[in-house]
Amino acid sequence: MAEEDRRDINIIGGGPTGLFAAFYAGMRGASVRIVDSLPELGGQLMALYPEKYIYDVGGFPRITAKELAENLIAQGTQFDPDIRLEEEVRDLVADDVGFTLLTSDGRYPSRTVLIAAGKGAFAPRPLECPGYTELLGRGLEHHVRAPSIYGGKRVLIVGGGDSAVDWALALQHVTDRLVLIHRRAGFRAHAHSMRQLHEAVDAGRIHLLTFREVRAIHGEQEVTGVTVFDNRTEQEDHLEVDAVLALIGFKPDLGPLTRWGLELDRNTIRVSATMQTNISGIFAAGDIATYEGKLELIATGFSEAAIAVNHAVHHIDPKARVNPGHSTNLRVFKERERPEAAVPRSN
Ligand SMILES: Cc1cc2nc3c(=O)[nH]c(=O)nc-3n(C[C@H](O)[C@H](O)[C@H](O)COP(=O)(O)OP(=O)(O)OC[C@H]3O[C@@H](n4cnc5c(N)ncnc54)[C@H](O)[C@@H]3O)c2cc1C
Repeated sequence: MAEEDRRDINIIGGGPTGLFAAFYAGMRGASVRIVDSLPELGGQLMALYPEKYIYDVGGFPRITAKELAENLIAQGTQFDPDIRLEEEVRDLVADDVGFTLLTSDGRYPSRTVLIAAGKGAFAPRPLECPGYTELLGRGLEHHVRAPSIYGGKRVLIVGGGDSAVDWALALQHVTDRLVLIHRRAGFRAHAHSMRQLHEAVDAGRIHLLTFREVRAIHGEQEVTGVTVFDNRTEQEDHLEVDAVLALIGFKPDLGPLTRWGLELDRNTIRVSATMQTNISGIFAAGDIATYEGKLELIATGFSEAAIAVNHAVHHIDPKARVNPGHSTNLRVFKERERPEAAVPRSN
């Protein structure tokens, strides 16, 4: 397994806190790596409620979680962090210089670590039925990797949230036949998306079946069909399909983080006022971090990210100032806006 270059700060988690930390670290001239178990950045914003409106983030009277995530990604990636997606951090090993994170795919050394892991690594909720394990990745997926994969296919989408409804709408013109099933009549999707869904159902582009659950997934090498159970009539039907998209949400798992010797308080990590954990050089911020008076909010995560990064920078170089001052006055932005005004930096 290849060992990558040593960064100043390895950030575990690419949610709002990790993304803002990546921006802030770049602003302070620190090199960063973000590792996340999900296939896209954004944390809970993208995994749990992309189409919901958020009203309590400063500067945005109303913004969808997805738009906020897009803005955070634009801001958080401008200093070119090394981004590793679909990799769960399984272990953390201390060494002479700092720490190395171990994932399924790599070894990532850094001088400090910022844990911005929210509620833990998100893993897709499985369908609990025969055929699930055997056919996962063989026509049965939890993510849409590319809509074109479903071109001309008979596709079953399972789920009643934003993700299931949004992907049904996105794939309706691509597939040969698209069936959306949900185990209840009520959906947890944005009202605008629901209006579009009903239009597509009325136009015959999406076949909607409510009170239905997947009982079994069939196929030898690839998915060829599913058994669908009507939980009102208890009748079972067979549907021939080429692909199943199980978009029934994610469940977080703190898992490995609990085994690193960190001081825990239920499912959170205790931190000091500088976001320092009980292990020197390991900081925590966002939903995962706790202290007296903690509020689990996006806005809190931003502030904690800035505090943690400033102290991580100071931990790496005790001569570096903890407080960098205001971004309005920082040379790094002036240089980008007027490169001709750039002067060599002593740091
Ligand atoms: C339905 C809903 C509505 C909400 N509405 C609001 C609201 O209106 N206003 C508000 O302020 N807050 C709201 N929140 C809360 C807000 O989303 C969280 O406070 C915020 O997402 C926390 O950000 P975070 O970056 O700390 O963690 P997260 O967003 O949870 O991101 C953590 C990331 O770390 C990754 N990760 C964890 N462990 C590992 C590991 N071992 N290896 C690799 N990756 C790992 C996870 O996959 C995840 O992507 C809402 C939450 C929900 C569920």
